[in-house]
Amino acid sequence: VRVVVAREAAAGERRVALTPDVVGRLQAAGLDLVVEAGAGVAAGFPDADYEKAGATVVPAGSGLGHAEVLAAVGLPDVSGLRAGQVVVGLLQPLLRPQLMEELAGRGVTVVSLDGLPRTLSRAQSMDALSSQANAAGYKAVLVATEHFARYLPLLITAAGTSKPAEVLVLGAGVAGLQAIGTARRLGAVVRAYDVRPAAKGEVQSLGAQFVELTSVGPAAGEGGYARALSAEEQAAQQAELAGHIARHDIVITTAQVPGRRPPELVTADAVAAMRPGSVLVDMGASELGGNVAGSRPGEVVVTPGGVTIVGAGDLASRLATSASAAYARNLTALLGHLVADGELHVDLDDEITAGVVVAHGGAVVHPATAALLH
Ligand code: NAD
Repeated sequence: VRVVVAREAAAGERRVALTPDVVGRLQAAGLDLVVEAGAGVAAGFPDADYEKAGATVVPAGSGLGHAEVLAAVGLPDVSGLRAGQVVVGLLQPLLRPQLMEELAGRGVTVVSLDGLPRTLSRAQSMDALSSQANAAGYKAVLVATEHFARYLPLLITAAGTSKPAEVLVLGAGVAGLQAIGTARRLGAVVRAYDVRPAAKGEVQSLGAQFVELTSVGPAAGEGGYARALSAEEQAAQQAELAGHIARHDIVITTAQVPGRRPPELVTADAVAAMRPGSVLVDMGASELGGNVAGSRPGEVVVTPGGVTIVGAGDLASRLATSASAAYARNLTALLGHLVADGELHVDLDDEITAGVVVAHGGAVVHPATAALLH
């Protein structure tokens, strides 16, 4: 089975789906890698490294003719895909069900890592959402420090003592926990909040304090994720969080609910109540809106009150080498699962396969995506 990797289609995306490091493992699983020239350069992987590892490098734009599988991180250019070909990536099918239906209609098989059953232990090596969230959570802290004009740690020097910075992490999933650990390693005092009750112990085990809200109850949803809050719950949460936000120097928001616009956790009033010099990093920032009122994806906004809001939906891309290396291992594990005896098998009775295959055999087979279509 031949797999092609092209340069990522999204503007500013630096990651690459497969790296020279995994070429041997792909071959062992019966997969040959074809790389379009320059596909890995922005992530630190030149064409020569792919060739050395045993991949074939072809001119940009010519790979799809050679391959059965198009491997990507984000949504690639799907216009050239033909019946029988497979596209795999983090394709966010719940946000674009119509495109999934169109690809199904063209006979394309669509595989998206978003749907992986992440709590299955045999799926853990394939968990690209976690590997990318880890990279992003780490980078979120470093980005915050770039816009913050004070030390993070308690520093006692001959020139005086500086108080440690106080960091609040809203949403303590994979990205939030990595942000907590990173901020702690830089010496900040860290607090965190999440609607899932399970998050409390995880936050505390990292040495951070868990912020309890009295106005909103726990909101665990399906599959270990949070459920969306009602309008009343959200208003109560925003109001109670505002007091905590105002007391912190750096606030990092990571809250997501699968298939939905990220919940707004930080209102314009809460931003206005922060001290000048404070920094917000909104990891949920996207075209759909983010966790912070006034954040804009890919932009840094400084409010009239001197608060910096970083709209950072692309943090894993800014750690492109590490994020790509991890993604490539996740994807290789998944492809290894789907390929047997040199052929791709789509067995929808298998829990992992059923989670990731969105379209196959001319139909949208993934129930959550199909439910949005009818
Ligand atoms: P995510 O990216 O979907 O969301 C990030 C966090 O935002 C979550 O912790 C969520 O609870 C929180 N959130 C959502 N709405 C919120 C709100 N209104 N207020 C505050 N917080 C809010 O989550 P994720 O990082 O992908 O992880 C989700 C869950 O999956 C976690 O329980 C995680 O431990 C679990 N998980 C399990 C495994 C495994 O078992 N191997 C692997 C990965 C993740």
